Parts: sequence; structure tokens; C-alpha cells
Amino acid sequence: MDKGEEDIALTKALLEKELEEKRVRAEVEEKRKARRAKEDELQRQLRQELEKNLEEKKRRERPVSPAVARVTRVPDRGAFSSGESSAPVPTPKFDRGAKPTPASQARARNFAPVYTLGQRKAGLTGLRNLGNTCYMNSVLQCMANFTVPAEYFMNHFERHLNPNSETRGEIAREFSEVLRALWGGKFQAVSPVDMKRAVGRYLPRFAGSTQQDAQEFFVKLMEWLHDDVNEVHSKVTLPEADFNKLSESDGAKEAWEFLAAAEKSFVVTTFRRLDASTLTCRACGWRSVKYDTNMELVLQLPADNSRYDVRRGIREMLSPEEVEYSCERCRRPRKCDKQLHLARLPPILVVHLKRFYEDHSLGVWRKKQNFVEFDNQFNAGEFVTWAGGRANYHCKYRLFAVCNHFGTMEGGHYTAYCYSQVRRTVHHTRLLYYNRSLIN
Ligand SMILES: [Zn+2]
Repeated sequence: MDKGEEDIALTKALLEKELEEKRVRAEVEEKRKARRAKEDELQRQLRQELEKNLEEKKRRERPVSPAVARVTRVPDRGAFSSGESSAPVPTPKFDRGAKPTPASQARARNFAPVYTLGQRKAGLTGLRNLGNTCYMNSVLQCMANFTVPAEYFMNHFERHLNPNSETRGEIAREFSEVLRALWGGKFQAVSPVDMKRAVGRYLPRFAGSTQQDAQEFFVKLMEWLHDDVNEVHSKVTLPEADFNKLSESDGAKEAWEFLAAAEKSFVVTTFRRLDASTLTCRACGWRSVKYDTNMELVLQLPADNSRYDVRRGIREMLSPEEVEYSCERCRRPRKCDKQLHLARLPPILVVHLKRFYEDHSLGVWRKKQNFVEFDNQFNAGEFVTWAGGRANYHCKYRLFAVCNHFGTMEGGHYTAYCYSQVRRTVHHTRLLYYNRSLIN
């Protein structure tokens, strides 16, 4: 090629390059526009839903009778956190220097925040109702006030993200963003729009704006969070183990190790306990043992409207029950004692007070209105008799958060009472009251 030809070729190449760049830019702009339009549309739908809901709520709202108002102080589901009451618990810090999220996941969340005048103390931000989302908000507020899980899901969870989880880490990420908004100290209240949307995507039942059960949401949230940070990425089939031949302490130890081989996550070590259920033959003393892990301590409230004491309820739950069972040693059906034992308690103990029940005579769901008594300080030591309680590090708890439903089946509202690290007073528990976005 001579000089002239070379120049022409170069110019042509440059022109082509420029055209290509223009095309790419236009494509990117097009995609951005489409995304924005989609987001606007979602926003519009959500707003519409909200307005419709408010309308409906206004129509339905009736004055609260004194009988209903009285039960507002009754906890439905409590969660106890272990530790001495006087031990200072650090408030979680949102670590701004933490490893940034990969660019593909970093996107701005729309929290539609209510700004506060001046600086808001971290951890005192409310969640706005997105149309009957009090069931979700109250659970999120309870979870946010547990400092250790909050700290973990704000700053450390990403290194444990499980690429094979159902939500591919999405729920954990959205949860993390909500925590960051709540602990960032910038807003009076925020709307957890993206969290709500993600939850609805994985469980369509939670997608709309109808009232849902807070306990069901809590259980599902914990399942997702565990799955998202499960360090065991593939399904593990555990070998059969004959726990009958092992001592209580060896059996508990092995059962816990088995669990860790299949499910190992921050959620398991923080929230799950190990239970042992036994069947004992009354004639020959033969005993069969099975281990299981559970999160919630489910307590059935009595059918009458009597006062209910949590401590007594746990005692009853752990007392033996007579069943007919085929004894392996006697080789015939025998009267056996079926009993549940707490073998290992977690740092955070979740208690579920079952208030909703189906009235079979009328075929409707009802709510028990028993007044529930509980201690702010709670020593569970007496309930852990398995292996002499040796496998236990956590026995002393204090009440940290209560997710509470007040009202009836026909109309009710969820609120959360949370112990606040921020407003901590030394000798008595101060509970913060989260009602919609208000924090008193
Ligand atoms: Zn027997």
C-alpha cells in the first residue's frame, strides 16, 4: 500500500470504530430507558396497590373495643437472646469500608425514605407500611434489633454466599440492604420495597397486599437466609447412625456434627437448637433416641382463656406422654413414654406462642386471647437435662424482641417490641415499639 491508500484505510477503520461505538452507546441507552420504564411501571403499580389498600382499610376500620385494646401487651412470638443482662452488647456498625459488592449486584435500592431533621441515631429507623405489610415489617424490625445477626448480614455474609441457593443470595442481599438502611442513621423511616418484591417473587403468596402470617414469613425468611449463606453447597446424604447405642453426650455431639456436614451456616449456629426425642418402654426400659434440629420452640396456649406462663408451658411440652408402640426388645406393642428433650440451645432462642387455631365445629380460624406471662430474664437451664446439659453453652436468656399480633382474625395488626441497644438502660429492659413507621 502506498501512503494515500494507507491513509484511506486508516480513516475508514477509524470511521468504522466510531460508528461501532455509537451503536454500542445507543444500545446501552436503549437498555437503560427500558429498565427505567420497567421500574417506573412497577412503582406505579405499587403506588396503585397502596392507594387501593388504604381505601379498603379506611372502609373497614372500626373503633377498637377495650377488650381488643387490652391484649396489645400480650406477646405472640418472643425471641430470647442469651447472655448476661449486664454484659454490654455492642451495637452493630455498618462497615462502610467493607468489600464493595460486585458491580453486577450493586444497584441503588429505592427506600422512599422519610428524612429526619438532623442526625437520627442508628438503629432507630422505622419501616413504612406498604399496604398490609406489618407482618413483614415487624419481623424485620425484630431481626434488625438482634445485634449479632444484624452485624453479620450487614458486613460479613457475602463471603459465605451459596451459589446454589434457591434465591441465589438475593434475599440475603435485600435483607442486608434493609439492615443498612435501618442502621445507617440517616432516615426516620424507609419503605422496604425491594425486599417485599424479592419475597413476593420467591413466594407469590407474599406478593400481593393481603395480610399474611408473621410467623410463616419469619420461618420462610430464615429458611432463605440459611440457604443463601449455607457453606455446604451441594446436597449431602448422611449415613444412618444408631444413636440408641451411644451415650446422651456422644449422641448429641455426633448428631450436631452430622448437621454441620449437611447444613452449616450462621443461621444454624445462631438460631437452631438440637432436640432429642425418646421412646421408652415401660415394661423393659428399652429406649429409642432420635435427634432433630429446630428453630422455634412451639408452645400451645390452653383452650380456655386462662393466664399462660411460658415457663410452665415449656415444662409441659417436655413432660412425657403415654403412647402405644411396638417395643423392639419385648417384640410386642407396649405402653411407652414419648418425650422431647432439649439437647442443645442456641444463642438466640425463638419461642412461638400458637394463638391461631381452627375451630372445627364452625370451620373457621380463631385466635386465643390468653394473657401471657414471661420473664425478661430467663434461665432455661432447668429444661436442659439431656447429657446433664453439658453440650450447652447457652442457657441464660433475656427477652429481646416480641413480634405481636393484636386484634382478631377478622382484623388485626402486627407490631414489634424490641430491646434497643441504642437506648439501653442498665437495669431495666427498654422495649422500643414499632408500629408501622413510628418509633416512640
Ligand atoms: Zn419393652
